[in-house]
Amino acid sequence: MFLDLTDLSLRGGERHERTCPIDVAPVVLGVVSYQVLLPEGATVTVDRVAGGFLVAVSMEARVYGPCARCLNEVVLGIHAEEQEFAPTAKDGWQETDLSTFIKDLVVDVSGLVREALVLALPAQLVCAESCKGLCPQCGADLNAGECGCDREECDERWEKLKGLRLKDDAGS
Ligand SMILES: [Zn+2]
Ligand SMILES: [Zn+2]
Repeated sequence: MFLDLTDLSLRGGERHERTCPIDVAPVVLGVVSYQVLLPEGATVTVDRVAGGFLVAVSMEARVYGPCARCLNEVVLGIHAEEQEFAPTAKDGWQETDLSTFIKDLVVDVSGLVREALVLALPAQLVCAESCKGLCPQCGADLNAGECGCDREECDERWEKLKGLRLKDDAGS
């Protein structure tokens, strides 16, 4: 959705606030896709300040995705917010200083919301800090119990491989 700041007819010091329902397309980080819902929508506030508008979005989001270790579905509640300044006159402003989601005083609210969410997402989700993950050999969920594989040996082999790779790097 788009919000035209000039339509708000705000005078200096005035504030406009509204809550918008917004559908967020899945956020893909690396090879993992996260579903994001905004049950209460996103709150947009616009303050008329000297020289322009302060535009802020804030939201409580529910993020659904696989645990990075055991792949079980995780639901995480996060708070995301972002604030941008939109100058009424572009003079003296570099294009790079300005939000790519505000063009000619029209705010791409969905774009701003999405950027805020991506920045607020943790690098990876885990179902619990204590999650034991999957057995690298048989793929069993180790939270459900031991699978009986001898993983010590496996780890050792990985350590050796890592050592080899380091030596290669140093030689080249
Ligand atoms: Zn897990
Ligand atoms: Zn196993």
